[in-house]
Amino acid sequence: MAFDIEMIKKVYSNMTARVDAAREVVGRPLTLTEKILYSHLWDGVATQAYGRGVDYVDFAPDRVACQDATAQMALLQFMHAGKKTVAVPTTVHCDHLILAKNGAKSDLAVANTQSKEVFDFLSSVSNKYGIGFWKPGSGIIHQIVLENYAFPGGMMIGTDSHTVNAGGLGMLAIGVGGADAVDVMSGMSWELKFPKLIGVKLTGKLSGWTAPKDVILKVADILTVKGGTGAIVEYFGEGATSMSCTGKGTICNMGAEIGATTSTFGYDDSMRRYLTATDRQDVVDAADKVASYLTADPEVYANPEKYFDQLIEINLSELEPHINGPFTPDRGTPVSKMKAEAAANGWPIKVEWGLIGSCTNSSYEDMARAASIVNQAVEHGITPKAEFGINPGSEQIRYTIERDGMIAAFEKLGTKVFTNACGPCIGQWDRAGADKEEKNTIVHSFNRNFSKRADGNPNTHAFVTSPEMVAALAISGRLDFNPLTDTLMNDNGEAVKLNAPFGDELPKRGFDVEDAGFQAPAEDGSSVKIVVSETSDRLQLLAPFDPWDGKNITGAKLLIKAFGKCTTDHISMAGPWLRFRGHLDNISNNMLIGAVNAFNQTANSVKNQLTGAYEAVPAVARAYKAAGIPSIVVGDHNYGEGSSREHAAMEPRFLGVKAVLVKSFARIHETNLKKQGLLGLTFANEADYDKIQEDDTINFIDLVDFAPGKPLSIEFVHADGSKDIILANHTYNASQIGWFVAGSALNLIAAEANS
Ligand code: SF4
Repeated sequence: MAFDIEMIKKVYSNMTARVDAAREVVGRPLTLTEKILYSHLWDGVATQAYGRGVDYVDFAPDRVACQDATAQMALLQFMHAGKKTVAVPTTVHCDHLILAKNGAKSDLAVANTQSKEVFDFLSSVSNKYGIGFWKPGSGIIHQIVLENYAFPGGMMIGTDSHTVNAGGLGMLAIGVGGADAVDVMSGMSWELKFPKLIGVKLTGKLSGWTAPKDVILKVADILTVKGGTGAIVEYFGEGATSMSCTGKGTICNMGAEIGATTSTFGYDDSMRRYLTATDRQDVVDAADKVASYLTADPEVYANPEKYFDQLIEINLSELEPHINGPFTPDRGTPVSKMKAEAAANGWPIKVEWGLIGSCTNSSYEDMARAASIVNQAVEHGITPKAEFGINPGSEQIRYTIERDGMIAAFEKLGTKVFTNACGPCIGQWDRAGADKEEKNTIVHSFNRNFSKRADGNPNTHAFVTSPEMVAALAISGRLDFNPLTDTLMNDNGEAVKLNAPFGDELPKRGFDVEDAGFQAPAEDGSSVKIVVSETSDRLQLLAPFDPWDGKNITGAKLLIKAFGKCTTDHISMAGPWLRFRGHLDNISNNMLIGAVNAFNQTANSVKNQLTGAYEAVPAVARAYKAAGIPSIVVGDHNYGEGSSREHAAMEPRFLGVKAVLVKSFARIHETNLKKQGLLGLTFANEADYDKIQEDDTINFIDLVDFAPGKPLSIEFVHADGSKDIILANHTYNASQIGWFVAGSALNLIAAEANS
């Protein structure tokens, strides 16, 4: 299962010459981000300086990682690419399809039965094509990548938006859609618009109740969910080097919540310690030889305002624990202000559940600090007021914290230890009573808290905070409990003040595990058979999308004008729909069912222009498709924020949507639309959004002249016969226009493999 040390050494040997050349070309000292980007150029040594936020650049990532929900579609696509093995080291992780209900043992058994055909499919495709396969129960993709594969200075892509977690080990790790992963697995380059750079200088030192999680909760509060769009965040300063590697991972993990392309930290002692503890001394030895290349040039951090597009400074010594939410991770409230905020906003004060773990906060240190709070509750005879659940990030973590007594500590409080998997974090939670949709509050150490995400209840107010704060709030049962100042009553009626949490950064006795849950691929997979039943409702072999007919799109109908926030959860909901992630026809029945129709302010109710009736969005799309009528989706700002799932692009493509016209896009979703052969367009004038009417028929005027940098003109014909011509911008370059013309990026790859 081990990482490929020879590959890492090759990256480092390329890095020195490439970084030196890039410094010459750029003509100034380089940030760490630039060093990693320039040393991973597809064309090798840099011959030009790239414009941040301007130039599209081809890169050569070192690794690919896929999780089970997205891997199904990625591997179904890869099977079309005509390759014998993957071109770069790749792993598949089974973590999203396991429902949390009664606890790990029975939940895992149920998942292994219910999702058997999917796991078997992923296992056999992995076996055939040289992909490392992590079985159900082995852990969550990003924790396993951090423990086994991430390395300083590397570049990785993954079919999950929290791939960025590996920035904690000094990588540039970026969440992509499955189609991008298929490109790289097929031996092709991966394209990214050269990002802008945000520097975050961390001064001071974390102490007491403040944790690395609070850094990113504060950054999210400052930058908002859109603030990092198109940018890579580079953390530095004494506060950065003084925190643990896994704490850095938590901070990078939630970079996805500010829309950042990724986040990273320079190589330091915390990374050396973590690599050594996870049995990778040879990576330390290799990295130490090029250590100066694995952090920014000294001038950069000395004068950061000169080298970053935006600079933020946070003094960790003054940072308070934060509790972000509800419904969005960028609504930050310092713990000292929560009493007033909760009262002013009418948030339910009673905490019903505290959930610890996920890929965001599953480190040994996280668990140890949370356990130190739990132990105090037990010692002082405090009965917790809320229920507790834990999702360990990996079997290695679970095994080690069990060995070290932490699981037993949690179990004394009646904690349910769920499978080493995503569980409630992705809506895979059979929470008793959630269907009653009562207004309630939960606190968790995950990264996202969009409406309905954890339990499907739109009235669950989910708040994101550190594991130790989750423990304290759940024990107190109050959202407005401030453990820094408040006391709790124990079962004898005595007031007890909790001490600040404490936990070892790494296990004193080292990590341990009996069966990590890894399956190595066959040496020669040519005889491995992959079976997909034609009657399966979980998996469906793909047929290529039709190429563009070379004509203007005309007579299209408005499918939906989405109002306000429209995340990938709104476009392709997770939760119960995860089971259809390998079956395009079936999962398309969730297309845009969470999006709010701007004309009636109702979700999943749009006018079918053929009948005048209001119906579910997928039903109306299917009606238009059956009638041979193309359709168009209109949206608001940051459309498609959230996850990297390409289903949010494939479903509209499959159901006959030709274009998505919005005020602005989240980056990954925009790329996914392009890859699937759709038109992803933005209003040249945002106010034109208001001109779109419910009964509009839409005609493209100059699509036949589709060209880079040239806006498109689109005619909206209203029911009364009046018209508006709207100018739409796009970011397609010449090769992306080639994807549109071919019908999808994959169509082009397959054509090249077969030629
Ligand atoms: Fe799983 Fe949640 Fe992490 Fe996504 S964010 S990988 S759903 S634990």
